[in-house]
Amino acid sequence: GETLELHDFDVVVIGAGGAGLRAAVEAKQRGLRTALVCKSLLGKAHTVMAEGGAAAAMGNVWPEDNWQVHFRDTMRGGKMLNNWRMAQLHAQESPDRIYELERWGALFDRTKDGRILQRDFGGHRYARLAHVGDRTGLELIRTLQQRAVALGLEVFMECKVLRLLKDSTGQVSAAVGYWRPTGGFVAFTAKAFVLATGGVGKAWKYTSNSWESTGDGHAMALWAGADMIDMECVQFHPTGMVWPLSVRGILVTEGVRGDGGVLRNSEGRRFMFDYIPAMFAAETADTEAEADRWYDDHINNRRPPELLPRDEVARSINAEVKAGRGSPHGGVFLDIASRRSADYIRRRLPSMYHQFKELAGVDITQEPMEVGPTCHYIMGGVRVDADTAATTVPGLFAAGEVAGGMHGSNRLGGNSLSDLLVFGRRAGMAAADFAEGRVGQPGFDEAEARQVVADALAPFSREDGENPYEVHHALQETMQSLVGIIRTESELRQALDELATLEERASHVAVRGGRAYNPGWNLATDLPSMLAVSQLVTRGAIERRESRGGHTRDDYPKADPELGKVNMVQRLDERGQWVLTPEPLPQMPPELAALFDEGAPASANGAATDGKAGAATA
Ligand code: FAD
Repeated sequence: GETLELHDFDVVVIGAGGAGLRAAVEAKQRGLRTALVCKSLLGKAHTVMAEGGAAAAMGNVWPEDNWQVHFRDTMRGGKMLNNWRMAQLHAQESPDRIYELERWGALFDRTKDGRILQRDFGGHRYARLAHVGDRTGLELIRTLQQRAVALGLEVFMECKVLRLLKDSTGQVSAAVGYWRPTGGFVAFTAKAFVLATGGVGKAWKYTSNSWESTGDGHAMALWAGADMIDMECVQFHPTGMVWPLSVRGILVTEGVRGDGGVLRNSEGRRFMFDYIPAMFAAETADTEAEADRWYDDHINNRRPPELLPRDEVARSINAEVKAGRGSPHGGVFLDIASRRSADYIRRRLPSMYHQFKELAGVDITQEPMEVGPTCHYIMGGVRVDADTAATTVPGLFAAGEVAGGMHGSNRLGGNSLSDLLVFGRRAGMAAADFAEGRVGQPGFDEAEARQVVADALAPFSREDGENPYEVHHALQETMQSLVGIIRTESELRQALDELATLEERASHVAVRGGRAYNPGWNLATDLPSMLAVSQLVTRGAIERRESRGGHTRDDYPKADPELGKVNMVQRLDERGQWVLTPEPLPQMPPELAALFDEGAPASANGAATDGKAGAATA
């Protein structure tokens, strides 16, 4: 039969983006036998693409900033659907994680007096994003990778994990996958597993995500019996490239707007002033003059509406295009050329400059960009315990984009990179604790592992099955047109029907050629994950009969206070049936709830407030 390579560890981390690397470093530092497994090359994870920065209330640029303000911004940005404890830990611990990264060798951009510089981003009251030009993810990955190598971490690259297996105790005890370069199979047994597999964007047609974002971890957790929460909450980033078609969806960082860029429609109107929601009216400028003054004086002016949270901006762009005021290729204009010097733009946004020059033939120091919404991030994910990142399945932990709760129904820019560091570390610690406390050797059912292998190889033995690319293409069309930025019940139900058909088609795909680096086969093994995630998103979207954050229902345009109190929890029961139940959110303690009271100072820590900041939001 097929050879099955075997490895045994204390802790196995699946995914080597920021979350996985940080988790693995933590477990390794504790002295545990730790493996890091990833389906791409080490250093190539999606995190590398992160541009704008990592949010942390260090107060380097605005001393008024502190964790309470960051916490409050995060919860309001997420429309209060966030797990409050995760948002609190994140706000409290991000600064330490950034300084730690600096000790490990990360070189951040600097303030004039030599501290870590922080930039403005949407939804953050103060300039808060630690960054390295617009290549922050690269520096984060480089630093963590260097740290991992220095610790002698064992890394298994280009190894794609397909399934998690549990032993007779019901604890996760093995992961089965294959080597992309050879097509040979491998199983890892361990006492604890950390899922850090990132996002799901490749299920949509236009996405900022890399090829890795096929939702494998979400699906593996679901299949292992884990609870999934709020999967309907998907973020469409307002500014992706729209043209040329071949690059449609590629991200244009929010840093462009943070650094002074503005959005205009085909009539030249700065239309975001027309879309300021009541929730943010008190702190958003209502004249261009005030908005423009804000860049130099945050205390006496309110923020430009271009820096409203992402869901608001994405919906506004969508509405302008729908009203016939879009740009020639179906987006709107993002203009920084007329607002900042060419030198400034090239220094602050070097990647954006090259991206537009090379991909679209547009010089962003001279002309506006054409931009529109693109599928960017999933807020929903595996349900985890805030303090330990433990999922509802023993032995399984999850951190980073694959985990749910932290960002509620809408993530603020910059809050992902800090999330990876804070919860990657916590997952690594808790997985190490679990491994140390686990009694006995994890069991391994070889027959079960061999079934995973047989299922993965099945497409090779089909004579005339369907082409996996065609199924993927159809899936992306379905998700884009029926489960996109604006949703409605009839379309969501149609999507569920189409997904059922696609699942049937996916079970009949055929691939040709050898197993070594066979992209058609790799895609064939991605399809079950993308289909599972698409169903989770669609089912959640049907049940959440309201509009909240990234989830917008045409037929329920308002937020429903009752639905704002529940997570949409989905799981597979013992018989493999889909179950969805709304369950109450964890209850926020009164001292944190008080931060949201009318008139509460935005800079909640009285000692750090000079009075003015509070006055501006009152
Ligand atoms: P990823 O970095 O996606 O890593 C996933 C890892 O899992 C990879 O190593 C992958 O190979 C591995 N993997 C996946 N499936 C398998 C499998 N089946 N078997 C084995 N390994 C597997 N956020 C910010 O906070 N600030 C920003 O400025 C910012 N900019 C962004 C710019 C762009 C263009 C994009 C697309 C996103 C940006 N984000 C930003 C979001 C942020 O980058 C991501 O949410 C974050 O990097 C996700 O990190 P992660 O560690 O969870 O997963």
